[in-house]
Amino acid sequence: MTNGIVIVGAGHAGVQAAASLREEGYDGPVILIGDEQELPYHKPPLSKTFIKDAAAKPQPLRGEAFYTGSSIDFRPGTRIDSIDARAGRLDVAGGSPLAFDRLILATGSRPRVLKLDGAELAGVVSLRSIADARLIRELSAKTEDVVILGGGFIGLEIAATLRAAARNVTVVEAVDRLLGRAVAPVIASHVRQRLEAIGVRILTETTVARLEGENGRVSAAIMSTGERLPAQMVIIGIGVVPNVELAQGAGLAIANGIRVDQHMQSSIAEILAIGDAASYRHWFTGGDVRLESVQNATDQARLAARTIGGHAEPFSAVPWFWSDIGDMKLQMVGLTQGGDHHVVLGDLADNKFSIYHYAGNRLLGIESVNRPADHMLGRKMLGAGFSPTPQMVATGPEGLKAAFAAFSQGEPARAAG
Ligand code: FAD
Repeated sequence: MTNGIVIVGAGHAGVQAAASLREEGYDGPVILIGDEQELPYHKPPLSKTFIKDAAAKPQPLRGEAFYTGSSIDFRPGTRIDSIDARAGRLDVAGGSPLAFDRLILATGSRPRVLKLDGAELAGVVSLRSIADARLIRELSAKTEDVVILGGGFIGLEIAATLRAAARNVTVVEAVDRLLGRAVAPVIASHVRQRLEAIGVRILTETTVARLEGENGRVSAAIMSTGERLPAQMVIIGIGVVPNVELAQGAGLAIANGIRVDQHMQSSIAEILAIGDAASYRHWFTGGDVRLESVQNATDQARLAARTIGGHAEPFSAVPWFWSDIGDMKLQMVGLTQGGDHHVVLGDLADNKFSIYHYAGNRLLGIESVNRPADHMLGRKMLGAGFSPTPQMVATGPEGLKAAFAAFSQGEPARAAG
């Protein structure tokens, strides 16, 4: 191999892939291409703290010294326009073509666009990048009333953050509950109550009919109910779509993302795909997924580097995710779709509880609010293939720990207590 490995996309997945290639002992050229100008940065703080703190700086994923010290040829502000898979070559916007031996696509996702009258007005924004976050922060300084379209994680995180900065915030959600199918209804209604208690207005089963502006700037959002909400900023947070166009142009298989196997290889084995852009059959559920989380991006990047290094183990990381919405740290482990019953530990009134989701006797996953120890134990249990019975869960954290310890020592799992 002489051309080395090119990674397209310098976000959570791409940067980890570069680091993991070196950790795996790969000593050929590694070229990391990103179309943003910034040193690659953490995205989660953008919706949680960055937009309300004028002094906040981006948090780099790795310091500048990492790239030089690990001989990673990081090329910011560079966009790849197309891939010639057969020739092993990339077209660089405004630059010379770039040859590769292996290619890792870590192109991420972008906010879903809403076709709406007035969506082109200044002050109508979405949040994905540090540039978006800077714009929201700047607009927020001149804004009293904010309307957020979409009651998903990012919309609600922003709602809590801007409410804490004393803005009038309304969240508009098309369906009858928040957080879509991402969490159990009990969590969704808990989140709603707490957000409403701090003064966030939440309209469910409502859509925005159109946006109105003055002098090219948004001034109001008109609801499907006819209500007119003043708004100097409208944030669209209705989900993301994977950046698959490069892969599609190269003839790779696409199915809600760049389709990869359990080694992160696309339909052309020399090209791997990881992170928000990749879809795959999940080892845990047997269903097809495309996960949008830092954990997924990081673990897939590590595995892609191992695949390139000649290892053949399949992807088997336990999925987990977190979100901070006001005074709620939500943490999720496992994949809970398809659950048919659950057990609750803790107390909703204390804003500290966990929900253990089951399909029959199999623990699918745990959703926690302000109970990080439950989450951590859940990660260990699911990682070890231990499915405590609902009766074990009902004994509480100590009983559960004891049951897990017994399982780890090889004792037959049985209901404690
Ligand atoms: P990205 O991090 O999006 O990186 C992809 C990069 O590729 C981008 O820089 C993009 O510009 C670049 N790119 C795309 N196409 C090209 C091209 N043709 N040429 C060159 N460069 C290209 N996850 C959690 O687990 N917990 C959280 O609390 C959480 N909070 C979040 C808050 C916000 C505001 C956002 C936006 C995301 C959050 N996420 C969170 C999700 C998490 O950040 C993503 O899952 C993660 O960033 C995915 O990593 P990635 O590398 O696949 O994509």
